[in-house]
Amino acid sequence: MRSRIQEIRERIARAAEKSGRQAEDIALVAASKMNAAERVRCAIANGISICGENRVQELVEKWEQNAYQGADLQFIGALQTNKVKYLIGKVSLIQSVGSIRLGEIIAKEAEKQKIQQDILLEVNIGREPAKNGFLKEEVNEAIARLSEKKSLRICGLMAIPPISDTPTEIARYFTEMRELFIDNSTKTYDNVNMARLSMGMTNDFETAIACGANMVRIGTAIFGARTYQIVSP
Ligand SMILES: *Cc1c(COP(=O)(O)O)cnc(C)c1O
Repeated sequence: MRSRIQEIRERIARAAEKSGRQAEDIALVAASKMNAAERVRCAIANGISICGENRVQELVEKWEQNAYQGADLQFIGALQTNKVKYLIGKVSLIQSVGSIRLGEIIAKEAEKQKIQQDILLEVNIGREPAKNGFLKEEVNEAIARLSEKKSLRICGLMAIPPISDTPTEIARYFTEMRELFIDNSTKTYDNVNMARLSMGMTNDFETAIACGANMVRIGTAIFGARTYQIVSP
């Protein structure tokens, strides 16, 4: 795993330099879903400093096994409102806030636990009906509304663009995201610090960085292909 992580860091550094930035400007989140606690610990031992999980139950199980010790833990998946309470206090950032209602429930739970929860707003940049996230034109209003919550801090935007056939096609979505990010970074609100643009995964992170991403979420290239267990009927 060490050499894989090293290689990714090098690729991130090259992509960053090409777009006039440095490796340190780009946060690497290891998407550790479906990898057991042992594998996560190994990734951390080999230099991973941020882990991202996308299922609450899996996160809690691995948390109880001390999987994330020494690293920051973030939530990056679809989040049901009734599971919010299990996350608050464990994760430094919830990347996938795709509705005002979810934001409000996170705010309430954070307030209860007397913390300020960092969040990103997830944008459904491809306008896919089945996908989580705000539409582009809803982001402005979402920032205005959620910035009223003192127990939240909005730290940027996140997106998972539609599966695209070519780098050019996906770059179009990433560029749209950067424009949206910049547009929404110029206004100043309380409780808003638009610092992070989270986009790019194993197959497209260099394109994402070229288009302005400063946080990438990488699973397969770190841990290898995920093995799905087939449950026969
Ligand atoms: C799994 C996952 C990733 C990483 O995907 P890879 O293609 O394995 O790098 C990134 N973001 C989210 C939200 C994920 O669930």
